[in-house]
Amino acid sequence: MYDGDIASVVISEDRIRARTIELAAELAQRYQPAPGKDPEEDLLLVGVLKGAMMFMTDLARALPIPTQMEFMAVSSYGSSTSSSGVGRILKDLDRDIADRDVLIVEDIIDSGLTLSWLVRNLEARNPRSLEICTLLRKPDAISMQVEVSHVGFDIPNDFVVGYGLEYDERYRDLPYIGLLDPKVYC
Ligand code: 5GP
Repeated sequence: MYDGDIASVVISEDRIRARTIELAAELAQRYQPAPGKDPEEDLLLVGVLKGAMMFMTDLARALPIPTQMEFMAVSSYGSSTSSSGVGRILKDLDRDIADRDVLIVEDIIDSGLTLSWLVRNLEARNPRSLEICTLLRKPDAISMQVEVSHVGFDIPNDFVVGYGLEYDERYRDLPYIGLLDPKVYC
């Protein structure tokens, strides 16, 4: 598949699955539902389209607590392999998040600029709590101001694709995270 565009496998399907189960257990501890609680108190997962779609659905299925799902699409202006962090909403949430426990589900944080903008945008809607769960985090994001409470894997500063992540809208369907051969974008 993809004829040699993938230089190597960075994170295998098995490792993604195992880490997703660990993260789900961590999140279930954090968002332990109170007995007899109102459905409005269910954890609200906000997946950032399109990259987080695979992780979001696998995470939701691994979570042993009730959750509700929303999706947002934002565009950040920049080149195809880096972002400027200036956001624009392409698809907004379908409902109000005031007084809800909200968990942003991200595919990857690089500079963190896109995420910082998104956090400011969602915080202005007065959720009860707002935390972030990302599958991947690159080195620059570790020093960012926004706290990321739940991280799947810290990875080096290489351009990766697969498991929702794309280059030129391709490779999202790979079941693993792979290193894109620079010959594809150079
Ligand atoms: P940030 O604002 O954190 O610099 O950029 C985040 C966005 O840039 C991600 O949501 C993703 O769309 C894109 N991005 C950053 N690093 C990578 C990468 O290694 N691979 C892919 N496919 N996209 C990336």
